[in-house]
Amino acid sequence: MTIIGHLINGEIYNDNNRTQDVFNPATGKAEKKVALASKATVEKAIAAAQEAYPAWRNTPPIKRARVMFRFKELLEQNADKICQLIGQEHGKISHDAAGELQRGIENVEFACGAPELLKGEHSKNVGPNIDSWSEFQPLGVVAGITPFNFPAMVPMWMFPLAIVCGNTFILKPSERDPSSTLFIAQLLQEAGLPDGVMNVINGDKEAVDTLLTDQRVKAVSFVGSTPIAEYIYATASANGKRCQALGGAKNHAIVMPDADMDNAVNQLVGAAFGSSGERCMALSVAVAVGNEAGDALVEKMQQAMKGLSVGEYSNANNDFGPVITQAHQDKVVGYISSAVEQGATLVVDGRNPTVEGYENGFFVGATLIDNVTASMDSYKAEIFGPVLQVIRVKTMEEAMQLINEHEYGNGTCIFTRDGEAARYFSDHIEVGMVGINVPLPVPVAYHSFGGWKRSLFGDLSAYGPDGVKFYTKRKTITQRWPSSGVREGVSFAFPS
Ligand code: NAD
Repeated sequence: MTIIGHLINGEIYNDNNRTQDVFNPATGKAEKKVALASKATVEKAIAAAQEAYPAWRNTPPIKRARVMFRFKELLEQNADKICQLIGQEHGKISHDAAGELQRGIENVEFACGAPELLKGEHSKNVGPNIDSWSEFQPLGVVAGITPFNFPAMVPMWMFPLAIVCGNTFILKPSERDPSSTLFIAQLLQEAGLPDGVMNVINGDKEAVDTLLTDQRVKAVSFVGSTPIAEYIYATASANGKRCQALGGAKNHAIVMPDADMDNAVNQLVGAAFGSSGERCMALSVAVAVGNEAGDALVEKMQQAMKGLSVGEYSNANNDFGPVITQAHQDKVVGYISSAVEQGATLVVDGRNPTVEGYENGFFVGATLIDNVTASMDSYKAEIFGPVLQVIRVKTMEEAMQLINEHEYGNGTCIFTRDGEAARYFSDHIEVGMVGINVPLPVPVAYHSFGGWKRSLFGDLSAYGPDGVKFYTKRKTITQRWPSSGVREGVSFAFPS
């Protein structure tokens, strides 16, 4: 059976340490194994990154950017293979994988602007013959730890920008679907990146903990679930590292009585069930304002869901694929059952879908639950499955209060035709990324991505302008070149 190894100092490396099965979630079969790095292997990668750092730090930004231009071309040329690897291990349908890859490539395009991004700030004559400027220097060896649900895009939120800023990088992808990530890193190598600048370590807690505690690693970017994000942030910070840790979500859509209901339903279907709901920006709760809106929404959703098809990644007619593991399938099904037990109304039940030819796959069908309340377990938790829950409220204020009181604050959306209501909503809602008639308001690569509350630990969001700040440290230099023979007298006053 294939064992997926690590990429250290430009070479694939297998340390014969522990391994873990990698499943094809559509067949339910373990088709590969992934190596789980030992502490010693991670230290080998850190040493390689440390050694590559001085030369890479001194490589002009334009030359670093040129590697990214070539990398972008290679990503586009190899898009089909990348999407296939994602489909085989994650299960998402090829058109969805292509969208994820495209959003990743946009981060590479942003990183291609390195010379402009790193230009710094300059002030002439801040005092007599004195100039001052700020420059943005790299940190050194930095690490990224990423989740299973975007094996191509989320790593590319991190390493292209970190690397063009002059850092060297160690990526610890998800052990559940590691092949596309490793292949992408090999393409970066092929694009001309010097050995050791980009390293990939596959592994689990042992690998992560080594990265978190090793003093040579200066910063850690993390994306994953909230309990782990909290642990990563606390441990990395306690070890003196800069850290940004993006966590889980529960994204609500408010459906106002004046919304274009057909449009809202179309948007909700894609945003709730696309990628089996395994997106941190998935809309998992629809808050209907008024019973009329609630009834219309549920009826139209029910109709729209009749034609949905769940199945294997390579069939483009399928709308979404399986969830990632058997354990996750059980968890999603458990939340649906608990909502029913706690008094909600199950309108469309996806617990036992029939997927011909894939009877052992980890499939959950699209599920719609009405009359959910804030006290239910299924409402409090991030289900991360193809489940849309409907909560009915009387007013927009009540809907906003519900959202503001939830522990997560990643994304949200309002469907309305009322500009005043939309403006009030975007101004007062306690959420980091807001859509107005836009269901998945994932910021483009030249903005930054970050939630509020327990969806992000740290001060800076991911990628875009915040990414540049995260992967650099400011140095401010003040300079005077006295004319030959001119001497300043002694002064004890604070310079002004
Ligand atoms: P996860 O937290 O289980 O794993 C994320 C990473 O942490 C993986 O690389 C994993 O190996 C590592 N990890 C897991 N347990 C660990 C432990 N005990 N100690 C150290 N490291 C550990 O997340 P997941 O299931 O892979 O991904 C889904 C989650 O990620 C969801 O909660 C989703 O909302 C979240 N997510 C958030 C964003 C965002 O931008 N906020 C984006 C994508 C996914």
